[in-house]
Amino acid sequence: MAVLRRSISKPRPPLEYDPARAARDAHRIAQNFTLRTIPLDVEGLAAALGLRVLRLPLEERVSGFLRESAGIWEIGVNSLHHPNRQRFTLAHELGHYLLHRDHAPFEDGLLFRSDAKNAREREANQFAALVLMPDTEFRTALSSGDIDSVARTFGVSKQAAEYRRDSVINSIGID
Ligand SMILES: [Zn+2]
Repeated sequence: MAVLRRSISKPRPPLEYDPARAARDAHRIAQNFTLRTIPLDVEGLAAALGLRVLRLPLEERVSGFLRESAGIWEIGVNSLHHPNRQRFTLAHELGHYLLHRDHAPFEDGLLFRSDAKNAREREANQFAALVLMPDTEFRTALSSGDIDSVARTFGVSKQAAEYRRDSVINSIGID
C-alpha cells in the first residue's frame, strides 16, 4: 500500500544553485563592479569575487586549476594556451568556485568537450558558456553574424561559440 507522507513543517531543501543562476549572479556582480560584460572582463570578475588569478606555463594537457592556498582561492590558467582558451578556462574555474568549491581542488585538462565525464565538469562548462555568452546577447549576435564574428564579439574560440550555439538550439541551460 502506498503511503503518502508529507511533513509540512519540514523545510524544503534549498534550490540547487545551478550554472544558469550562477552565471546570472556573476553578471550582476560584474555590473555592480562596472566591469565590461561583452566581451566579459572575466579577470575583473575573478578579482571582484576575491580570487587570485595565476597565469603560469603549465603542461600542454593542463588548462587550469582551482585551489585554496592559505585561505586564498587561486585560479591557475595555462599561459601557453591561446588567450580565448585562457578566458574559457578562467570562466570554467570560476564555475567550479561558485558551484563546487567544497569539492576543490580541481585540475582541468581539455575543456568544453560534449562528453565531459562528470556532472561537475559539465556544470562548470555550462557556467563558462553562459557567463561568457549570455543568452539574449548571444542570440542577437547569432542572428546578425556568422560564427566567426560571434566568437570575436564574445572573446571565445570558434569551437566554444559553436558549442554554445548548439546548446541554444537544444535549449540546454537556457532560461
Ligand atoms: Zn573542471
